Amino acid sequence: MSGLSKSPWIIHYDASSCNGCDIEVLACLTPIFDVERLGVVNTGNPKHADIFLVTGAVNEQSRDVIRNIYNQMPEPKVVVAVGICASSGGIFRECYNISGGIDSVIPVDVYVPGCAARPEAIVDGVVQALGVLEQKHKDTQAAVSNMDNVLYQRAEKSDAPEILSLQKTAGQCEAEVYNEENLPALQQTLEELRNDFDRAIFIKAVVNGKIIGSVRGRARDDTALVSSISVHPYFQRRDIGRRLVEEVEKAFPDAKRFEAFTGQPNQRSLHLLGRAGYQEFKTEPFTPAITWVYLQKERK
Ligand code: SF4
Repeated sequence: MSGLSKSPWIIHYDASSCNGCDIEVLACLTPIFDVERLGVVNTGNPKHADIFLVTGAVNEQSRDVIRNIYNQMPEPKVVVAVGICASSGGIFRECYNISGGIDSVIPVDVYVPGCAARPEAIVDGVVQALGVLEQKHKDTQAAVSNMDNVLYQRAEKSDAPEILSLQKTAGQCEAEVYNEENLPALQQTLEELRNDFDRAIFIKAVVNGKIIGSVRGRARDDTALVSSISVHPYFQRRDIGRRLVEEVEKAFPDAKRFEAFTGQPNQRSLHLLGRAGYQEFKTEPFTPAITWVYLQKERK
């Protein structure tokens, strides 16, 4: 980890900035501030980046690009919103084409204030981001060594940001399996997920206070619909997905039947649901590359 924090790789994206903040980001690379002397490397490849530096507010064109860059970055990763536009939408907040700050699309870890944000503040934001990056790495390591103590609990609306972040991380692995970036799990916004709490029961798997898995269940007549099984990639292949399914089933004591769906060719999900006792009963094409497979199970 010391290598990571001593030489963080940063990717910068201009979401719809007036260029003011971007000039200041550029100033950080000039000899006066020279962040490269601190080991910072400006990369153009999200798969090599640890820190995502975003300027400007979110508009229709930048929303998908922000998601795609974020989803392609490896874990652990940190997002820094630079300037008031990236933090909240700023003076453009009420514009017809602006949907808000960066946190309306992806979770933000560090906010750098200012219009334009000063280079000193941007460098300070990157230093804070390094602290967050190191902490995320430590949390993950601690959780991995404490796997015997996973707690399965009912999630609350206040867990929504952490669950969304988990869903996007886990969803990225699925996107690679399907070779499809536009999966519904990757498109969901924080507001949509918060609204889901009014319709569904969420169960979370927690280690050391960190959510590493989640699932949701919803009642339809005498059936409980089980969906959105997400397990953090670090913790997959440890039976957490099957335990989550088992726990969410317990939340519907009156259900006579359970139904779930996953995509073909996601063999891992099919296998997980098979081990939980589910059997395929219908398929439905979603995209040329993905077929939804519906599975069911009667209550014994
Ligand atoms: S915060 Fe100010 S300088 Fe930065 S992008 Fe917005 S309007 Fe431009």
